Amino acid sequence: MQLVSPPQNPPIKLRLARDLVRVIKRGHPWVFAEALRSRPDASVGIQAILLDNKKGREIARGMYDPHSPLAFRVCTVDPTEKLDDSWAKKRLERALSLRRSLFDEQTTGFRLFNGEGDGLPGLICDVYGNVAVIQLDGAGPRNFWNFKGIAQWVAQALALDCVYLKGRSRQEDYSQVLVGEMPNTMIPFLENGVRFTVDVLHGQKTGFFLDQRENRQHIKTIAAGRHVLNLFGYTGGFSIYAGLGGANHVTTVDTALPALEVAEQHWQLNNLPTANHKTVPVDAFEFLDGAIQAKNVWDLVIVDPPSFASSSNAVEKALAAYQKLIAAAASVTVLDGLLAAASCSSHVDLPMFLTACQTGISKARRRATLLRVTGQPPDHPTPLPFSEFRYLKFVLMRVE
Ligand code: SAH
Repeated sequence: MQLVSPPQNPPIKLRLARDLVRVIKRGHPWVFAEALRSRPDASVGIQAILLDNKKGREIARGMYDPHSPLAFRVCTVDPTEKLDDSWAKKRLERALSLRRSLFDEQTTGFRLFNGEGDGLPGLICDVYGNVAVIQLDGAGPRNFWNFKGIAQWVAQALALDCVYLKGRSRQEDYSQVLVGEMPNTMIPFLENGVRFTVDVLHGQKTGFFLDQRENRQHIKTIAAGRHVLNLFGYTGGFSIYAGLGGANHVTTVDTALPALEVAEQHWQLNNLPTANHKTVPVDAFEFLDGAIQAKNVWDLVIVDPPSFASSSNAVEKALAAYQKLIAAAASVTVLDGLLAAASCSSHVDLPMFLTACQTGISKARRRATLLRVTGQPPDHPTPLPFSEFRYLKFVLMRVE
């Protein structure tokens, strides 16, 4: 089973222009184009050897993309390791054994490969019940990884019916079924025993936001007896947990009507009383404006918007949007009620997000006490020095 593309002979050598040796040895896996002395022409995703900026000693092996600003991704810093199929198999097995240690049969939806966080640069794989979805982060990983071989390995190791390769956007549409056949119904899976379904073909990302699993579980423990507002609710993840935790009523808001229809189905699938859930297909900002005017309030408000900052240039605008959102959400939270706010923008770090929360709460002329700060769960691991990869911030506050 071929898992990676074979190296070129003789191998491509890249020389660092800066002293990044220590940070790379510690586990940072990215080298940008401007940190290389030169960028030789080569085919995208080819194996390359990285040399230091001083004596030209070998420090890492990885994949090279001469056209991308992210020119080199580290696969290993062990000079004795060759990037061949047995190397790849070891990495895949290690990723699988981490997930086996994390989940039992009550959780059949999880991230199996988290790219750099599993030493598998650019390779993402989410599993939902009997189906896996592979995504590749850019042209380098797409050529480096033999995704057909990877799909076969995944299908065998987890005894799956189908493995699907999903393009990351409409521009990048190389989506295809790699193993088996895609069922033409929604795919069922469990998360902490809660029943969900996913449409991997049409859903957002790989179909579900697995990274909020533990935060959803926490919402379950604080929802009892409360009126809950779930903004940017998608297919109802947080809403269902709130319902199962004993919420009196849950309102799910999202602009995506098909997602809200699924949220409704998920509510029923978990045997929750129909009268206790309402979906509202409108813009969350407009919904909040209307609720403020009507003086509506909720005991627990959850705000989980899409990334507001797609690049580092967009950070200022993103922070302004978070402030506005938090201010409006705080305004519809009862006195001493709870506000849970998440950010998945990797360009906005935790201190920046907490400052945006502070400014937003103060704009609403309220104060808040921080109860809990979390991030992504352990099936979304990251190398310790690679903070860019820790994109998820989740903050729970009591609004006073
Ligand atoms: N909390 C969800 C994931 C949210 S993803 C979960 O746990 O599954 C972000 C969601 O925001 C998407 O469903 C998207 O359709 C929705 N969205 C994007 N812009 C929006 C807007 N302006 N108003 C309401 N929803 C929006």
